[in-house]
This record gives sequence, C-alpha cells and structure tokens, in this order.
Amino acid sequence: MASKEKEGLKINGGYPLHTFEDVEDVYFEYISSQADREKIKSSYEFAKSRHEGQFRNSGEPYYHHLIEVAYIIASLHCGPDTICAGFLHDVVEDTNTSIEEIEKRFGSEVAKLVDSVTKIQRLKLSHMDAEEFEAEDHRKIFIGMARDIRVIIIKLADRLHNLRTLDSLPYERQIALANETMDVYVPIAHRLGLDVIKSEMQDLCLKYLHPDIYDEITKLLTKKTRTMTKSLDGVKKRIADILFANNIPFEISSRVKSIYSIYHKMYILGTPFDEIYDIMALRIITDTEIRCYEILGLIHQTYVPIPGRFKDYIAMPKPNMYQSLHTSILGGDGNRYEVQIRTKEMDEVAEVGVAAHWAYKEGNGYNSKEEQEEIENQLHWFRDFVSISSDSESEDAKEYVDSLTKDIFEANIYVFTPKGKVIQLPMGSTPVDFAYKIHTRVGDTTIGALVNGVMVPLNTVLQTGDMVEIKTNKNSTPSEGWLNFVKTGLARSSIRKYISRKNAELEKDDKIAKGKTSLVDAFRDRGISEEEMEKMLSDKKVLDKYECDTLDDLYIKVCGRKPTPTAIIDFLNIKKDVELNTIGAKVKNSGVCPVYARGADNIAITLASCCTPIPGDDIVGFISHGKGIVAHRRNCHNVVGSEDRLIDVYWRDDIEYATYPVDIAINAINRPRLLHDISGVFATHKIPVNSISGKVVDSDGNVVFHATILVSDAKRLQDIFNILLNINGVYDIKRVTH
Ligand code: MN
Repeated sequence: MASKEKEGLKINGGYPLHTFEDVEDVYFEYISSQADREKIKSSYEFAKSRHEGQFRNSGEPYYHHLIEVAYIIASLHCGPDTICAGFLHDVVEDTNTSIEEIEKRFGSEVAKLVDSVTKIQRLKLSHMDAEEFEAEDHRKIFIGMARDIRVIIIKLADRLHNLRTLDSLPYERQIALANETMDVYVPIAHRLGLDVIKSEMQDLCLKYLHPDIYDEITKLLTKKTRTMTKSLDGVKKRIADILFANNIPFEISSRVKSIYSIYHKMYILGTPFDEIYDIMALRIITDTEIRCYEILGLIHQTYVPIPGRFKDYIAMPKPNMYQSLHTSILGGDGNRYEVQIRTKEMDEVAEVGVAAHWAYKEGNGYNSKEEQEEIENQLHWFRDFVSISSDSESEDAKEYVDSLTKDIFEANIYVFTPKGKVIQLPMGSTPVDFAYKIHTRVGDTTIGALVNGVMVPLNTVLQTGDMVEIKTNKNSTPSEGWLNFVKTGLARSSIRKYISRKNAELEKDDKIAKGKTSLVDAFRDRGISEEEMEKMLSDKKVLDKYECDTLDDLYIKVCGRKPTPTAIIDFLNIKKDVELNTIGAKVKNSGVCPVYARGADNIAITLASCCTPIPGDDIVGFISHGKGIVAHRRNCHNVVGSEDRLIDVYWRDDIEYATYPVDIAINAINRPRLLHDISGVFATHKIPVNSISGKVVDSDGNVVFHATILVSDAKRLQDIFNILLNINGVYDIKRVTH
C-alpha cells in the first residue's frame, strides 16, 4: 500500500494495516445478500473518493482510518447500514458532502447514523480545566450517542482507532483524548459488555496517561507469564484429563489479565503485584449450562477452592449480561489459579457483550427498529440512559454526569416486585428509588414500603433478592427530605421537578427561608456551621458566580434549585467529611505521636483506625475537619479519591516506637486445635492480642479468623505473617481495612 510515512511515525500506529478486502472477508461471513454487499462496497468507494487528497496526522491517506473503523464494526457483526456509516462517518464533517446526498445514495437509515455521528463530532469540546465545562462536554457526547446504539458502536470504533494512532498527535491532545476516553467511552463500552474494546482502550489510555507505570507492568507481566506458564500447563493438563475421563466436551485455554486491570489492582486498590492471583486464569468452554456446574464440581473435588472466590454469574448475570462461573483453586504447587467456566454462547457475550445478542441476522424481515427495541429490552439501563439523557436539559451538567454514572454505570442490585418481576437498581438504592423506577406516579404518591413483608423506613437500603412492595396514597406528595437519601438520578430529578413546581408558587420570604434551609442542611452534612456557611457564601466571588447581589437573592435561586446546594458546594470545593474513625488507635505506652508533617509541628496527628497504619507502612495524611491530620495507609479506600485533602506525612525516626493495633484476617482450612496453634504463635512471639474471633465460611471447612494484634512496625508484622503461614491449614493472611 502506498503511504507517505512521516519520519518516526509508524503506519497505522504500528498495527497491521487492513485493506478493503479484509473488511469484506469479515462481513461476507454473515452478510450474503448481494445488494447489501454492493451497497457496502460502494459506500467505501464513495468515501475513499471524497477523502481523496486528505491525509491523517501520521501522513497516511485518510481512507486507512475508514477501513480500520469499518473493520472493527464488521468484527462485531453489525448490520450493513452500520458498516456503511462506518465508512462514511467523516464524509459530511470533513468533505463537501451533504447529508441529503448520503440519503439519496445510501438511504435514510445510513443518513441518520452519519448525521448523528457528525453532530457529536461538531460539538465544540472545550477541554478546559474547570470540571463543569468537562462535565458539559461529556453530557453532550452521552446525549449524542443515546439516540441509537449503533451510533455508540461507530463512535467506539472511531475512538479506538484514533487511540491506536495517538502517537501522531501532540502531547496535549494525547492526554485530553485519553482522559475523555476514560470518562466517557470506557464506561459505555463496559456497560455494553464490549470487553475487547474496553480493555484495549484502557490499556492504550494508560500508556499515554502513565507511561512509566505502563512499562513497569509490561515488564512484570512478561516475567510472570514466563515463570508461570509451565505450572499453569500442568494444571491445565490435569483438568483436561479429568474432563476427558468424564466424557465432557470442552476447550481449555488460558488468558492473561490486561495491563489496565493490573494497574487498577496495584495502584487503585493497593494490591502488590505478587498478591494478584488471577494474572493468569484458565478458561474452560463447554456446551451446556449444566455441564458448567458439573465441571466446577469436578475441579473442586480435585483442587482446594479458595473461599470467597467462587462467583456464580450464570445464575446471577452481571448487568452487562456477562455469564460465567468463577472459582480460584490452590494448585498442588502452592500457586493459586483462577478458573472461569462457561458455554460458547456465554463466552461470546463475555467478549463482545450486547453485540453477541444483536449480531446481524439476515432475512426474515430484519428491522432496525425492532433490533433497537430488542437491545433496549435486554439492557434496562439503556432505556434509562435514553430517558435521563433526553429530559435533563435543566439540570446542571455535573449533576447529570454524576447521576448517569450512578444510575447506569455503577454496580447494581436486583430486587423483586410482589409479582416476581426483577428490577435493577444501583447499589445503595432505597424503596423510593424502587417506586420511581416502577412509575413516576407511584414514586410521587409513596407513603410506605414493605421489604420482604416487613414495613421499613423509606431510606432503608435495599439488597439483592429483596421483595419490595410500595404503599401509595393518591393524595400524598413527595417529601423534600427524600433527596437526602435517594440514589438514582431518576428519583432525584422527579422529586426535584415536583418541588420546583411547588416552590414557584411560594411567597418571596418563604423562598428565602426554604433556600436557606436546604443550604444549611447540605453544609452541615459537610461539618460546616450556619455562620461559617453564611461567611463563605457572602464572598463576592460566590455571589458574582451566581449573579446575585445579596445572600437572599442566592437563597431564592437555591429554592428554585438553580443552582443546587451540591453545585455550590462543588464550586467551593468542599468535600464530604469522610467519617474517619480515629478511636482505638491511640498510641500505646508513649505520648509521642510517631508521625509528623513538615511545617505542621503543632497539629495533632492520629493514626486511622480503618486501615491501622504501623511504622514502616507507606502513609499519607488526611486533613479532616476538626480532627487535625489523620494518617492513613496510602492505599486505604477511605482516602483514595480525596487527593486534594492529602498531605505528605512521615514516620519519625527519632523515637522508639511503641506498639500499634493492626487488624488482620487469617484464612485457613479448619481443623482441630487450629485456633490453639494460631494463639500459640502470638504467645511465643510475645504479640499482644486485643481480640480474635473465628468464623466458618462454608461447608468445605474454610474458616476466617479476624484478629487485632499489637505490633511495633511493618517488618515485625511481616515476620509474624511468615510464621503464621507455616501453620498447617493457614493459606492466606491479609491486613484488613474497614
Ligand atoms: Mn473518524
């Protein structure tokens, strides 16, 4: 292929370059209609001729990009219109071709898709620092894509290829595109279950956002796979023998964890590389669901399963429809292995998610509208996504994106209606969220709720499996207090709509009082008193921002919920006071605090009791309202995400350390005298034990002991761990963070 390669830049980012014939090879497999095949080919030829003379930043002819985008789309087995639109996606934006011309040549469906993609491209994306602007950009993209799931696929393919060739863009654009991808495209790919696209995007973004970490992990991974492959092959062979002996059809393979998921474990969750046990996993594919369970049984019979690691995603699929059985086993060699068991169909869903379900089916009255409906039925969240996106014009953008993230992208629970219908809600949802999910009218008139037959307060947090029944009264109206606990954007915006309708009818004084009350509540929630709040809000900067002359003006605006208290709090950059419990972590035997911060000699520093840091641990200081500085372990989940309130703190080396409490969990296979032996280790090594309790976790005899012990430093703790691990039956010890 002819190319004008710029110096130092690789053709197609170093990826194998496809030709139109390659794309044909892919869609010929599932599109046999001659007319459709010709239409796709002519869309390619049309796009190529219109982009003639245009080049990518890398110096390659522009149409390379169109071929790669269409190739990705065809690999997902999308229909002919989507592939055509893939070839044509830049033609309206970048050449003098009109939508009308596209419609005349390729029909209204293709034109509609190209039009939607073009509109997203035309959004003036600000990429400014202010969070509000960024959120506004993201909202525009979400709304642009919500029109049609096929538009999402085209945009994902377009973005993926642009990421592969990111080297040819200037540094600032690389960072901006990588960040936007992580914020917008990755969550969507994840929710659609498009794992192949999601993983590749994450890896590529990491490469540009944290190149050092990316290289580090790549190196670790290469080393690990080299040493582990042999032992993995041993386990693989043994399992294969067993399945063969039991006449079970199977395919067995191994997969390596993606670079990004390792990054997530190491740098977000704080797990050291050597403690990530599913870096290599075995995948067993069989023919029927029942065989999956059979295989699981056979494996558990042969190898010791690790407690807490078994997950049945077949009975309880993930919201993105992922199904599989997961278990972790101890190989005879002391290594742990994750094993995933599923059918061929489930495997396809795991790779391409929703695309596996709506893979283009030819003939028998294929209908794009029906297709869209079918997808929406399978993915409840998509319907919510569409409805939140279309009726949120009035809300501020940050709130919109937040609620979208909460409702659509976060972990879900499944609850039941009295008739047994499954309702999916974000974690932390309450009966009020449930009520609004059923219908706005039900939500608006809710007076009470029964969960599993028992009357409960409306702010009760629902759990998966709960049966929820809502009591309504047609004369009842929503309470403003519900806003303090509802989780879904749907409930929130419905309650707000009702309140602002009602507030519009209030007298001026009432509006001031109401606006003030909701602000006082929100600030108090963050540990700020009414006086402090008034002082903050009277600042000219704040009043100017909301175009108010007086504080009362601002209260009136807040009563109308423009702006909302949350928006003001975000503007003032106040974080919710993480409830950091510092009781119980008092330094024993010594009045001297073992931790100091530079230039803050007089500030009290305490050790957090959630993650129980001890000398030698990597720590950070969290600036807490009214509690001075609290030292946490750097990876403690209570401080991750609060970077703007963290400062560097250090262990003092000029004092003799006392002992400090540490919470640990010891996992073991139960046997007589096990607890006796564990206590014996503590006694022999003179480790004071504040508390210890054991709990049998399953019928296989797995048991976990929780203990609070007193130790002087991290090195000593590691020594104790090593001694405990020598006890027969003990296979894992962890520090616990509450
Ligand atoms: Mn493009």
